[in-house]
Amino acid sequence: MLNEKVALITGSTSGIGLATAHVLAAQGINLVLHGLMSLSEGRQLADKFSQQYGIDVLFDNADLRDVDSIERFIQLATEKMGSIDILINNAGIQHTESAENFPLDKWNAIIAINLSAAFHAIQYSLPSMKRKSWGRIINVASVHGLVGSVNKSAYCAAKHGLIGLTKVLALECAEQGITVNAICPGWVDTPLINDQISTIAEQQNVPFEQAKYQLVTAKQPLPEMMAPEQIGEFILFLCSDSARSITGSALPMDGAWTAQ
Ligand code: NAD
Repeated sequence: MLNEKVALITGSTSGIGLATAHVLAAQGINLVLHGLMSLSEGRQLADKFSQQYGIDVLFDNADLRDVDSIERFIQLATEKMGSIDILINNAGIQHTESAENFPLDKWNAIIAINLSAAFHAIQYSLPSMKRKSWGRIINVASVHGLVGSVNKSAYCAAKHGLIGLTKVLALECAEQGITVNAICPGWVDTPLINDQISTIAEQQNVPFEQAKYQLVTAKQPLPEMMAPEQIGEFILFLCSDSARSITGSALPMDGAWTAQ
């Protein structure tokens, strides 16, 4: 059923996005890969996917802080691939600091990349989904879209906002065959959290792996990090026909973090 659909995954040069790209490609889903790397590196990555899975793959390195670049990126991708059927708003950044001392440029970048870019990408992709009366929009939020943590004002504001956006779009698309959901992961083993692990390792003078364990268990009862592929498999399920009635949901995959 998903064979030959087109999925656009923002931030798919690393971590959760890259792992999700592999999971979807293995089902024959064509891909628009995206992230911050040079066009030549990106094209190499796209060629690798194309050869490994026998699918059509496009790469773009639009900076998600720039609305015009997002518009150009999505329009070009829709033209070249014929449609965008699955949109995965995954790109994100993190910065930790007390709200009182939070740098303005970091606040602006987190809101732009983690929240506003998802809104713009949805706006530019919806016409293509509506033409086919079928679509899947999956916003990679976080447990921090459901609860707060100290030193994460911008990240929590953006992720809570992303869940609000998800609910509104689900209502607006309910009769169009388009589902809209947010996934709320706990700790996932990707480069995004390396700074937080390094800070613990330095402050407590412990090895990186021990610091990682401490970071996970401070909030998450299940004492292990998730593999990014697990998020990819969850996203694949949300794309399936079995999941067609799941829409407007903020779905935790968080080792019981938000059960407390
Ligand atoms: P990552 O750092 O491995 O990947 C981030 C991706 O975003 C990269 O492809 C990067 O190029 C892209 N990106 C960053 N800034 C960009 C910009 N200005 N323009 C375009 N692309 C940009 O991170 P990850 O952990 O895989 O995170 C993916 C998503 O998952 C994020 O939204 C993050 O908030 C969310 N998340 C991560 C965790 C975790 O523990 N790692 C937990 C919950 C939610």
